[in-house]
Amino acid sequence: MINENYLKLSESYLFSEIARKVKAYKEAHSEADIISLGIGDVTQPLAPAVIAALHKATDEMAQSATFRGYGPERGYDFLREAIVQNDFRARGIDIEADEVFVSDGAKSDTGNFQELLSADCVVAVTDPVYPVYIDANMMAGRRIVKLPCTPENSFVPELPTEHVDVIYLCYPNNPTGTTLTKAQLKRWVDYALEHDALIFYDAAYEAYIQSEDVPHSIYEIPGAKQCAVEFHSYSKTAGFTGIRCGYTVVPKGVKSEKVKSEKSGLLKTISLNAMWNRRQSTKFNGTSYLSQRAAEAIYTPEGKAQIKATIAYYMENARLMREALTDMGFKVYGGKDAPYLWVSTSLTPDPSPVGEGNLKGEGSSWGFFDKMLHEAQVVCTPGAGFGPNGEGFVRLTAFGTHEATKEALKRIEKVL
Ligand code: PLP
Repeated sequence: MINENYLKLSESYLFSEIARKVKAYKEAHSEADIISLGIGDVTQPLAPAVIAALHKATDEMAQSATFRGYGPERGYDFLREAIVQNDFRARGIDIEADEVFVSDGAKSDTGNFQELLSADCVVAVTDPVYPVYIDANMMAGRRIVKLPCTPENSFVPELPTEHVDVIYLCYPNNPTGTTLTKAQLKRWVDYALEHDALIFYDAAYEAYIQSEDVPHSIYEIPGAKQCAVEFHSYSKTAGFTGIRCGYTVVPKGVKSEKVKSEKSGLLKTISLNAMWNRRQSTKFNGTSYLSQRAAEAIYTPEGKAQIKATIAYYMENARLMREALTDMGFKVYGGKDAPYLWVSTSLTPDPSPVGEGNLKGEGSSWGFFDKMLHEAQVVCTPGAGFGPNGEGFVRLTAFGTHEATKEALKRIEKVL
């Protein structure tokens, strides 16, 4: 009766397990002042341009002449045009508005898009990885191939040695905070074209890129419009974790397969764009008008400047963390083009096997998590929760306030 694939999933979602541990600690230590450098939620308020757009949209909803009910399935034209213009054409990328699907965020779309694939597709993910890609495909019963990302390969995954049908790539990466250069990403696009594979490219942290040679979109790479779907989120770009809005680009040239129509028996071509449109119009009733007006506002000159300032604020935290933790003797990765730092729990230059020569013998990432929670009242995210190659690391986020970040760093230093 039930989908038994669910029984193969790990018992709880990583962040639920962290929340459970933090709750238990708080119950036992009600006076504890806990600082979270763990879960990836933002702390800074929405940009004034976004707030103004929300007020205006709310007032429109109060008048029958301007009230809006269900919106267009792919999202309102005003937002899709702003996306095409600012996120693509301004970078010399030719994406059409009918290739853009507005969503309630990248978690739903990165989780749901696999529904368009057959159950026997083989799916490759990096290890460590954002858990949604794995869990969503496990729910559908697919085989998963893991591509290790470690300090030895500078967190750049090797091309698969067996055939895979789909590859999920997320850059700037959650959890490692590392990036791919254009040349490194080109190898993947070339692989996908040559092996008839699809790339699902998660660009949720694109707005944090500071380096010149790091691509903001996979469509900067020639050929990607034939093999890649790209997911975007306003959550970290503009603090929309509570507002909810994002979008997915499904170019019309991606994977048009010839399949036999059951009705006519004729061969017909089906593009992923048409399939995704069909899926969304069946199962999704659109992102709220308010959220879409809020998203549109981040493309105005004031909106752009305001979200840039907030990102600079978070990236200053990233810099502070990188410098302080490196000074303490930790090996730190990421944090230059991403709000995440991937920190070896070992105080030796390279992570040692669990329990060997690590920080007071507590090198495992959950051990390090417990130590930081109990002794420093700082919450981090155990790397093991992102996959086997996350063992020996924790993920820290730059989304706190400057004050809390500095205080957390002081406490970590004291505990050492
Ligand atoms: N993709 C990655 C890599 C993420 O880290 C996150 C959020 O943490 C998401 C997608 C989900 O973003 P959204 O809030 O738009 O659902």
